[in-house]
Amino acid sequence: MTTDLRDLYQELIVDHSKRPRNFRRLEGANHRAVGYNPLCGDRVTLYLKLDGDVIKDIAFEGSGCAISTASASILTETLRGKTRAQAEALFHGFRELVTGNTDGPAEVDLGKLVAFSGVSEFPARVKCATLSWHTLVSALNDDRKEVSTE
Ligand code: ZN
Repeated sequence: MTTDLRDLYQELIVDHSKRPRNFRRLEGANHRAVGYNPLCGDRVTLYLKLDGDVIKDIAFEGSGCAISTASASILTETLRGKTRAQAEALFHGFRELVTGNTDGPAEVDLGKLVAFSGVSEFPARVKCATLSWHTLVSALNDDRKEVSTE
């Protein structure tokens, strides 16, 4: 990886960690899950508004390190409008990217998610990067009709 590209990725992560996108409770969400990474103390609550198989809207709240916050922020940007199957394919590609365990070239266009490619050099940070994705899978499988407003 060239130094320029590394700097660009670093800037993207810093930007999203300082100004996370879609950082709010999502009114009318019909799927929700809470994720916690005890190794680092990262917490994320993910809200989804699913219409059939399509993610109509997505937002998150929480607190954590720069990597986990930026990952959740870019996740929400990436997944709005995507189907459940597309989201699962992206998670597969993203996990390969950050663990460095690829079984061939990625079959999905990871877009901005490639900014996390450097995480594969820091195994302790892999859980920070994937926390919001594991939370996503949990949220997709949460079939409550409405999120509690308590
Ligand atoms: Zn972390």
